[in-house]
Amino acid sequence: MAIVAFHDGQEFEARVPLVIIGAGACGLVAALAARQYGVDSVVLERDALPRGSTSMSQGFIPAAGSRFQAEKGVEDNPELMARDIQRKNGNQADPAIVRALTEASAGVVEWLADAHGVPFDLVEGFLYPGHSRMRMHATPRRTGEELMGSLLNAVEAAGIDLLTEARVVKLHADDTGRVHGVTLERPDGSRESIGCDALILACNGYGGNAELVARHLPTLKGALYFGHEGNQGDALLWGEAMGASLKDLGACQGHGSLAMPHQTLITWAVMMRGGVQVNHEGRRFSNEHGGYSEQAAKVLAQPGGLAWNLFDRRIHQAALEFEDYRNAHIAGAVRIFDSLESMAAELSLPLEALRETFHEMHILAKSGEADAFGRTFRSEDLLVAPYHAIKVTGALFHTQGGLEVDIQARVLRQDGSTFPNLFAAGGAARGVSGSGDSGYLSGNGLLSAVVLGAIAGREAARQLSCDSAA
Ligand SMILES: Cc1cc2nc3c(=O)[nH]c(=O)nc-3n(C[C@H](O)[C@H](O)[C@H](O)COP(=O)(O)OP(=O)(O)OC[C@H]3O[C@@H](n4cnc5c(N)ncnc54)[C@H](O)[C@@H]3O)c2cc1C
Repeated sequence: MAIVAFHDGQEFEARVPLVIIGAGACGLVAALAARQYGVDSVVLERDALPRGSTSMSQGFIPAAGSRFQAEKGVEDNPELMARDIQRKNGNQADPAIVRALTEASAGVVEWLADAHGVPFDLVEGFLYPGHSRMRMHATPRRTGEELMGSLLNAVEAAGIDLLTEARVVKLHADDTGRVHGVTLERPDGSRESIGCDALILACNGYGGNAELVARHLPTLKGALYFGHEGNQGDALLWGEAMGASLKDLGACQGHGSLAMPHQTLITWAVMMRGGVQVNHEGRRFSNEHGGYSEQAAKVLAQPGGLAWNLFDRRIHQAALEFEDYRNAHIAGAVRIFDSLESMAAELSLPLEALRETFHEMHILAKSGEADAFGRTFRSEDLLVAPYHAIKVTGALFHTQGGLEVDIQARVLRQDGSTFPNLFAAGGAARGVSGSGDSGYLSGNGLLSAVVLGAIAGREAARQLSCDSAA
């Protein structure tokens, strides 16, 4: 390649207006948004086949006031959604970002459906902990893999350049913080450099970096990481080196329901429809309706770091809607028993304790009172034979802290000023989940990836258009 630019001793073999690092939902949506505003980008992805944590997710994107909700008679609005997000994180997220995301959410989901053919519909039948309305939008199979497939098709149809096996190893920035380009490394160790006028960091957080996890998430140190291994905290480390403001690094999405030993996600809908978790003593240990993220540490704190999800046929039938659940079922993760006696015997749980656990749920359903952990039970949700059980553990799914950004997804310095041409979104940016493991409201991950990603792409494009007009 010819040298087309030069900065600070660095030769750039190519030059593009906008470079986007990472081809998960965030990077792909950002590229589509930039293209809509007339700006070409190149998306750089370290993997041969872009997957990211996005493809491992269930692909549920929360949006308030969408036409998909209206079609199903669900009344919702951005204020309600913002309230739910802030209630879950204890009002710790930046309210301006929460407002920007919730207000843009429905428009982004509808744009992806209408302009790019992503086959969304509304996920119905249950509410995730903390959501006051049904507002999860997902593709038919309810998998992130399908969401990624749709986004990759859209990027290809739009003619956007996506360079795979291109791990970015260096950003080239000057003393003012302006980024002039990046250097990427190929699997054979060869390096190439690309100059750019703006850069979007869409390379997620640091969940795959055990050292950073131990430093920032001590309760999940050594826990199974169930996100994408490529998320090594590169955005965080680059930002740190450039003097960016880093916020909420102790925030994460854990999950307390990963089937073992199959390592398949068991949807939390199982708990929300009436299921419970017991430890090897046959006792419940938490409010399963508090949130699945903080449940990871609670399950890991049980003997052996394990628990049993207990539910029944009604819940099993409903969970079959989820491909991950179906896979777990096919793999033999779901054990079925005619009675509490046979379940206790087969799972080596103390029968008396198990009986007491079930008896307590009946008493609570009758009285309407909350249990010691704060959960209430409805008679219609009480479990009946045949009982179903899955052995689960807790895992780290992804991190939620990162580079602080403004409502245009521009990365902030520690003094609150913005870098001239640096944007971040998705797992690379500070999320809206507060500072710990309990502030994560279901969907916050893809909300930040998809909606903030769209904002980042649009704003980078607008800035570049203004720069070229000036
Ligand atoms: C099992 C599971 C289930 C989940 N379910 C949901 C859900 O239903 N709803 C929800 O909202 N959230 C969910 N999440 C969280 C959600 O998946 C993430 O928040 C979201 O996918 C983040 O998107 P992203 O584009 O920022 O990151 P990713 O999808 O991880 O993409 C980042 C990409 O950047 C690449 N990359 C990293 N470093 C570099 C580099 N130096 N150079 C080039 N490329 C690089 C990576 O290879 C990766 O492809 C789930 C997560 C998991 C693990």
